[in-house]
Order: sequence, then structure tokens, then C-alpha cells
Amino acid sequence: MYPRSFEYVAAASLDEALSALADNPGAKVMTGGMSLIPLMKLRLFSPSLVVDIGRVPGLDAIDDSGDQLAIGALVRHAATASSDAVKSGAAALAQAAALTGDVQVRNRGTTCGAIAHADIAADQTAAVLALGATMVAKSTSGEREIAAADFFVDTLTSALEPDEILVEVRVPKTGAGSGSAYGKLGRRGGQSDYAVAGAAAVVTMDGGNVAAASVALTGVGTKPTLAAGVAEALVGTDGSAEAVAGAAGRATEGVTVLEDLYGSEEYKSHLAQVYAARAINAAIAAAT
Ligand SMILES: Cc1cc2nc3c(=O)[nH]c(=O)nc-3n(C[C@H](O)[C@H](O)[C@H](O)COP(=O)(O)OP(=O)(O)OC[C@H]3O[C@@H](n4cnc5c(N)ncnc54)[C@H](O)[C@@H]3O)c2cc1C
Repeated sequence: MYPRSFEYVAAASLDEALSALADNPGAKVMTGGMSLIPLMKLRLFSPSLVVDIGRVPGLDAIDDSGDQLAIGALVRHAATASSDAVKSGAAALAQAAALTGDVQVRNRGTTCGAIAHADIAADQTAAVLALGATMVAKSTSGEREIAAADFFVDTLTSALEPDEILVEVRVPKTGAGSGSAYGKLGRRGGQSDYAVAGAAAVVTMDGGNVAAASVALTGVGTKPTLAAGVAEALVGTDGSAEAVAGAAGRATEGVTVLEDLYGSEEYKSHLAQVYAARAINAAIAAAT
């Protein structure tokens, strides 16, 4: 199907893009176009104007400031996946980026685009949620920061206003004694496809016990969700396989699990527990 007709502007600067968004309430930003274009062709999105920021300079860097990583709006999935700084400081995000789509998608799509798009089955959304990232949004009115826990509102709906651009995501680096990991079951049985269910975990070990934990799920509900019950059950344990399995049993506590083409509520609940346990075990291994 063809999209409805629309205007197009290739912004040369961030200011030009922000002005175009402010002047056109029906406009949409485009970074990689990997999700926007298919949804326009399906006529699920029909923006009056597409503001392409793909040529805006200065948005394609991963900056390591010591205790956090800043991933710019035009950093592709492939760059996030292969960055040594991300692999060592935010492994769950690098792993989620590596498992996002196929090689073409990873070379065009962006980490910030996947986060802004807020698909219920996206990979990097769960990773930034578990890692406690902060989203930096800009508009002609200024800049604001949004905690990952407040960013994902509903299916394909984030806390971004229509005139805002997600200019970077700031990810706190896991320090000594901490580790993170991400894993999923992909829709066609493989890894490189949207998640039927997936989980990201961040764990800090201290003196042989779990001192802090954060676990986030994707694919099972209407948005990526923190599995607070799992983290609560895990902290204070020795992180043994039994302790992890017991904690992961609480994965879908408080989550409205959605049945869809890829699995029943029961199957998805089971997968959420399995992938939560796997991510936690991998994060503990990385921490120790
Ligand atoms: C065949 C295929 C397989 C895929 N498989 C997976 C998968 O396994 N896992 C997965 O997670 N994803 C998957 N995706 C989606 C892919 O990750 C997209 O790259 C991503 O969802 C959107 O990134 P983008 O940069 O292409 O954004 P675009 O398509 O350009 O934009 C998507 C949406 O986000 C908004 N947006 C984008 N960037 C910004 C910004 N900086 N600020 C504000 N709003 C913004 C746009 O306005 C639009 O609404 C797949 C896509 C395809 C086509």
C-alpha cells in the first residue's frame, strides 16, 4: 500500500528540524525510517510532514563521560551493538541492539528511534529501562530530561511531545561488582526479530549477595515494564540458581500479559519468567 501524500523536509540543523516540528503539529521526525515508513505505508501513521533529521550533524556520537554514556539520536543499532564502551558499560543495551532486526535494519535504524517509537516488542526499550537511562528531549521551548521509568506510556506512545526530538539517551554505566544482560525469544523462533518475550537485567553483587537489581520485560504487555517484584525478591539473596528461579517466578506480577499471534497469555508469562531468569543469571555472571 502507498502512504497518503505528505510533505518532506531534510533538515540541515537541529534548529531547522525543531522549527519545522513547532510549525507543523501533524509532522513526524524520521531518523532511520525503519518503523515510520512501514507504518505510513500501512496508513497507521499519516503525518502531513516528515522531518528527516538524518543529515543533521553532531547527533551520531556515543560519548563516554566516565560514569555515563550519551547515545546520540543518529547512532545506529549496529554502532550501539559494536561499541566497546556500550559493551563494557551497558552490556544489556549492546546485546539488545545486536538482537534488533536484521543487518539492514541494524545499519539504518537508530537506538533513539527504537526508544522513541516505543513498540511493545522492541529490544532496546527493555535495556534502557533496566539500566535506568534518562531521555533528553529538545523542542523550540528548550530541553528536558525524562527518566526511562516515566518515558514508556503505552503501545507506540512515549512521553515525548509531538514537537520534541529525542536528541540523546544517557545511560548510567554499570560499575565494579555490577553487570547487565538482555535476552529474548524472537517471533520467528530466532533471535533477530521482535520479541515474543524478552528481559533485561542489571545486578550489583556485594560480599556474595545481590545488593541491587533491576529487571525489565518486553513483548508481554502494552509497553516495556519494570518487573519490580523480581528485583525485590532477588535483593539480599546469594544469587544462586534457586534464588534466581524463585525471584523470576514473580516476573509478570502487576503486568497485564497480552495474548497475541505469537503466544497465549500462559505461554508469554512462562517465557517472561524464563528470560528474566536467564538475563539475571547472565548479569550476575558479568558482575562477578
Ligand atoms: C524488518 C524489520 C525488523 C525489525 N526487527 C526489530 C527487532 O527485532 N527488534 C526491535 O526492537 N525493532 C525491530 N525493528 C524496528 C527497528 O528497530 C527500527 O529501527 C526502530 O523501531 C525505529 O528506528 P528508526 O531510527 O528507524 O526510526 P524511524 O522509523 O525513523 O521512526 C520511528 C518512530 O519514532 C519517531 N522517532 C524516531 N526518532 C526520533 C527521535 N530522535 N526523536 C523523536 N521521535 C523519533 C518517529 O517520528 C516515528 O514515529 C524492525 C524493523 C524492521 C523494518
